[in-house]
Amino acid sequence: MRSRSRKPGSLLGRAVLPAVLTLVAGTAGAAPAAHAEAAYDLVIRQGHVIDPKNGIDAVTDVAVKDGKIAKVGAGIDPAQAARTVDASGKYVTPGIIDLHAHLFTGRNDAYAAGVLAVAPDGFTFRSGVTTAVDTGSAGWKNFGEFKKYVIDKSKTRVLAFLNIVGRGMAGGRYEQDLSDMRAGPAARTAKKYPGVIVGIKTAHYEGMDWKPVERSVSAGEQANIPVMVDFGSNRPERPLAQLLTEKLRPGDIYTHAYSGNRGELGQDGKLNPGMWAGRKRGVLFDVGHGGGSFAWKVAVPGMKEGFTPDTLSTDLHVTSMNSGMKDMANVMSKFLVLGMPLKDVVAASTWKSAQSVKRADLGHLSVGAPADIAVFNLDKGAFGYTDSFGFKLAGDQKLTCELTVRAGEVVWDLNGMTAKPWAPGLGGGGEEQEH
Ligand SMILES: [Zn+2]
Repeated sequence: MRSRSRKPGSLLGRAVLPAVLTLVAGTAGAAPAAHAEAAYDLVIRQGHVIDPKNGIDAVTDVAVKDGKIAKVGAGIDPAQAARTVDASGKYVTPGIIDLHAHLFTGRNDAYAAGVLAVAPDGFTFRSGVTTAVDTGSAGWKNFGEFKKYVIDKSKTRVLAFLNIVGRGMAGGRYEQDLSDMRAGPAARTAKKYPGVIVGIKTAHYEGMDWKPVERSVSAGEQANIPVMVDFGSNRPERPLAQLLTEKLRPGDIYTHAYSGNRGELGQDGKLNPGMWAGRKRGVLFDVGHGGGSFAWKVAVPGMKEGFTPDTLSTDLHVTSMNSGMKDMANVMSKFLVLGMPLKDVVAASTWKSAQSVKRADLGHLSVGAPADIAVFNLDKGAFGYTDSFGFKLAGDQKLTCELTVRAGEVVWDLNGMTAKPWAPGLGGGGEEQEH
């Protein structure tokens, strides 16, 4: 399918009958400019742009040329664009970065080359995600396979935390094998793929040992990248507070922050003071919603205490997307419902996420940056939001993704904002068929 990818402007349909074109011009987004001469390939007009890195939170225009952001500012002349989109009443953000996903598909019963992972492009663009970070599905022994069959074949920009376990998330017993958790090979592999392997992951460990965390940090030090921790089973021998105040470094990431599965919430209904102490030291807290890692019981009091997430993420996989998590737009909506301002929700899903993995080239709409853009509706109504434990919270707003642009190319268009209007005599056999 990728070989037939549309280039910006190809939707314009150069074969459209001139008479009909006159009829429809001005009724829709597509301006009939000779786009070879247009200053911009695409202009998204009059949306409410939220670009936290550049401090933009206002109605303005965004112009794209050659896959990059060309201009952000009010009053960009539509005549200069091969294609324009009217985004009034909608929010325009940098392409969303999902910091926690499982994308290493294959035929094993696991997340490593397994059926529990999902193919990125099928589940990213429809919620505004243009960059997805796989978190530990692959280890150094199978990262090459992941790179070749998923990362290099996806339009979604796929980055990765490399599992400290050589086999990655190959299944329960493999992920308990301390002899396969080796800092040296993990660090060497990470250094071979700078900017693609953006961190080290430890996950699902049930034992009492600190070695998985210590070896991950050692690999992270050697490769100068952060560590993300899924703290596995809750063990008194290795308490959460010690992880956050002694074991992790500033800039390391604690994911599943609102799960309640590892002592995040105390008996008194308040957050474990270690969470606050960790934050004070610079440890970052990621949502990693997942299929079993997001509890209203933790998130509601946590947010009341002011413990907002540094980064939002889905922990996307087959189970989570078909239960309470659903997709990134739904997770973002949940934090709106919890009282987090929209601009902070966007920051925690774009610029802060990019910074956490040292990819400052991403997560913003600066001129020259990759033209990764999302356009959202913020709908008002009566909505229900389910956590990972079957509990529902009502909410009166919901983000849905209207349009996603990846490197200047429209990759998701819910209501045909960029499509040509159909009229009798148009379309069908012979004219720019794609399927
Ligand atoms: Zn995960």
